[in-house]
Amino acid sequence: MAMYEDVLLFINGTWKQSRSGETISIINPATGSEIGRVAKAGQGDLDEALDAAGAAFLLWRDTSAFERGKIMRKAADLLRERAEAIAHLMTMEQGKILPEARMETLAAADIIDWFAEEGRRAYGRLIPARRPGVSQMVVQEPVGPVAAFTPWNFPINQVVRKLSAAISAGCSIIIKGPEETPRSPAELIRCFHDAGVPAGVINLVYGVPSEISEYLIPHPVIRKISFTGSVPVGKHLAALAGLHMKRSTMELGGHGPAIVFGDANIDEASKTLVAAKFRNAGQVCVSPTRFLIEEKVFDEFVEKFTAGARQVKVGDGLAADSTMGPLVNERRLTAIESLVADATSKGAKLETGGSRIGNQGYFFEPTVLSNLDLSMRVLNEEPFGPLALMMPFRGIDEVITEANRLPFGLAAYAWTSSGETATRLGQGIESGMITINHLGLALPEVPFGGIKDSGYGSEGGSEAIGAYLNQKFISRTGV
Ligand code: NAD
Repeated sequence: MAMYEDVLLFINGTWKQSRSGETISIINPATGSEIGRVAKAGQGDLDEALDAAGAAFLLWRDTSAFERGKIMRKAADLLRERAEAIAHLMTMEQGKILPEARMETLAAADIIDWFAEEGRRAYGRLIPARRPGVSQMVVQEPVGPVAAFTPWNFPINQVVRKLSAAISAGCSIIIKGPEETPRSPAELIRCFHDAGVPAGVINLVYGVPSEISEYLIPHPVIRKISFTGSVPVGKHLAALAGLHMKRSTMELGGHGPAIVFGDANIDEASKTLVAAKFRNAGQVCVSPTRFLIEEKVFDEFVEKFTAGARQVKVGDGLAADSTMGPLVNERRLTAIESLVADATSKGAKLETGGSRIGNQGYFFEPTVLSNLDLSMRVLNEEPFGPLALMMPFRGIDEVITEANRLPFGLAAYAWTSSGETATRLGQGIESGMITINHLGLALPEVPFGGIKDSGYGSEGGSEAIGAYLNQKFISRTGV
């Protein structure tokens, strides 16, 4: 099994301690014990990363997309070779079960491969001119050095989407990685380094998130911001980016409606949704959260879903029989406890779960709540934990209204056997993504992102690389 070691900063092609020597503790959420420490960057370290990213950008943007793609594909192969060891490290720091960590790591290799190819398709275009002898063209150029801020829930996936899109477009990047889960993303970066990405193109720092973002976003070297995390922090960083006229991509929170109609296959819907809900202990931005169930099948669905939730085996993510790990930290545990207490004090019914498990590590029971009303915090705030909220509905208009009630608009799910219902949902639901009768989100080749308070921009599909490209119009005549 892989040994967990302290995590360093990666600046200008070198792994190093911070100049101050300061570090931050890394806790295994399954035990609550420290497993290592991560270097904490200060301004001097950030200046070094900014200098490196600025200089490397000039080199990398002039490296052909073909060459960039070759190096990236090599990084993907290295990641596949090292996936098992990296997945262990991820489970130790993040808590998710080993199969999920393994899947995340292998999926990251596919994401790198896809962007490696997509970089070669960042075409421009020719526009017919009004006068003979004039040629009008649009070329795409990399936007410049990027500052990316990524959270702890998918330690590799959140980094690899931003990183792959940025460097395939020809940008350099400074990543502020997740302090809670720093080692697996560091191993991802090591694959790129070992594959031959030149020094300074990729830099990885950790530290106090607000100090780093307040310093990097306004800095003149940085031309583009990408953030994944909560809505309040996203709004703050988007405002800062706006103040300094920096382009930004914001992938923020959600409160996913999962809509089940009476004509759906209830067995299949409940089985699929149990797996989706308790993946990564519900700490997923696209997690299904509000289960909106047509009245006539409400009792049947709740019974089947609750039976499935009771079968989830909570335990250390490294144990072979665990099907759900702990929450990532004590903060999440407290947040979930407080949401459940608020709901039950106002009359919510606990179909199952509702409590912390044991007093070591941050384990929480898979929880199903019913008899809910809109005054409860849990129906208005993103829970980001293993909570499933059951609500009955009476018809398509009512359910679309409820699905769209909140300011979030990230992912939505629906089950129905009616084509007409599927069409109306596709048109009526305010979300960046909707998947009907199956789970079909988050492939590298399809868009991934939200609307409304859930943010803007995409982290998948050709749109994702577009976020790292400027369009330049060139009109010429006479030569
Ligand atoms: P938080 O709001 O403190 O932090 C969320 C993320 O933003 C973390 O990665 C953190 O390091 C980063 N962050 C916080 N302040 C920042 C700043 N000023 N500048 C740059 N980065 C900053 O919340 P938390 O307790 O870590 O997580 C809980 C909430 O975060 C959840 O309720 C969920 O809404 C949200 N979250 C969302 C995602 C996602 O995939 N969209 C991932 C993780 C967390």
